Amino acid sequence: MSIDPALRALSISEEAFSTVTRAERDVQSVFDAVDARALRCQARVLSAFRDLRVEARHLFGSNGYGYDDLGRDTLDALYARSLGGESALVRPGIVSGTHALALCLYGVLRPRQTLLCVTGKPYDTLEETIGISGNPSQGSLAEWGVSYRQVELLPNGGIDGEAVERVLREDSSIAMVYVQRSRGYAWRPALQVAQIGRLAERCHAIRPQVTVMVDNCYGEFIEDQEPTHLGADLMAGSLIKNPGGGIAPTGGYVCGRKDLVEKVAYRLTTPGIGAEVGSYAYGYQAYYQGLFLAPHVVAQSVKGAILAAKIYADLGMEVSPAWNAPRADIIQAIRLGDSEKLIRFCKAIQSASPVDSFVTPEPWDMPGYQHKVIMAAGAFVQGASIELSADAPLCPPYNVYMQGGLTYEHCKLALMMCLS
Ligand SMILES: *Cc1c(COP(=O)(O)O)cnc(C)c1O
Repeated sequence: MSIDPALRALSISEEAFSTVTRAERDVQSVFDAVDARALRCQARVLSAFRDLRVEARHLFGSNGYGYDDLGRDTLDALYARSLGGESALVRPGIVSGTHALALCLYGVLRPRQTLLCVTGKPYDTLEETIGISGNPSQGSLAEWGVSYRQVELLPNGGIDGEAVERVLREDSSIAMVYVQRSRGYAWRPALQVAQIGRLAERCHAIRPQVTVMVDNCYGEFIEDQEPTHLGADLMAGSLIKNPGGGIAPTGGYVCGRKDLVEKVAYRLTTPGIGAEVGSYAYGYQAYYQGLFLAPHVVAQSVKGAILAAKIYADLGMEVSPAWNAPRADIIQAIRLGDSEKLIRFCKAIQSASPVDSFVTPEPWDMPGYQHKVIMAAGAFVQGASIELSADAPLCPPYNVYMQGGLTYEHCKLALMMCLS
């Protein structure tokens, strides 16, 4: 196969080019399904824009207290519509996904209640929030008198519904059932929205008042529905992941039942004020446009992940999920097996980045994580993992987690560069 000079300029070898081209042919039927889903998600988002009569003035910002900020309020409503909740909070001032999740925990839970995580240990950055690691007297939930329990996932990666029912029946202090949809840095399948829906139904049958809360990070627009369409009470995520479409410069969202979102708003600002105050002088164009682009961008990154799964499985490595397995997040895990390969993979991803391509990523002690972490990301938005990026905790069995990619072409070129 002959390779174009434009690709050769990126030091892509003939062999890498033909490996990727062959893999791409093999996965075409799965790509077709991804495109079909992107079309349906795009229709859902477009309908929300039309139903809410989004207009040019909504894109502009406000200042000061932000009373009657129509752009802010319409953006909230747009997220609620697009993600299947009664109400939503979308704020540039929510600094990250962890912050959005923590707002939900502190907004909804009260002293002497218990948080029950049913997907094993939650995402690393939440451990200190809950108070199960680090210094608990920084205002962790534990310090505020909120207890924590967890139920492990089944060996097949599913939720142990029977164990959850048992705990709910025996422990009347449980006020929130917490589900992490994405794999995060764990070697397990992401949860399908239907699985979360079934869990919510079982929990509500036992205790109608319990809040089923979903960490929806990395999950938006991967499936036809979101957890809040199927009975989850509340969910949260980051705007520099899927729903920001690679355009939102920062922020987080919370979406779900109206009364719960209101409680979260009282935590975000202060009781009595809630969501009625809050301005953003730069304007909301990037947030509207990002949400509009999100179904397409998510599909691009999913195609990149599928291609990577096929290539590395063909090379004899374990991958999760398999190229033709159902997906519920944008992450592709690859078991590289040793630290040398892992660091080399991350360096190749870095050098294939549009920004900081000349930088060498090094393992470091990142705040909130228990192991040294190496991260490759040359993103337009710092740390945005809807842009092509790779992260790996530096510990056996040396799994790398790659995700994102604003365009499929970029993913494809990066994989050719990794192989070269
Ligand atoms: C990214 C992520 C978080 C935390 O988000 P940050 O924006 O990094 O704080 C939480 N849970 C999951 C599953 C994530 O992927």
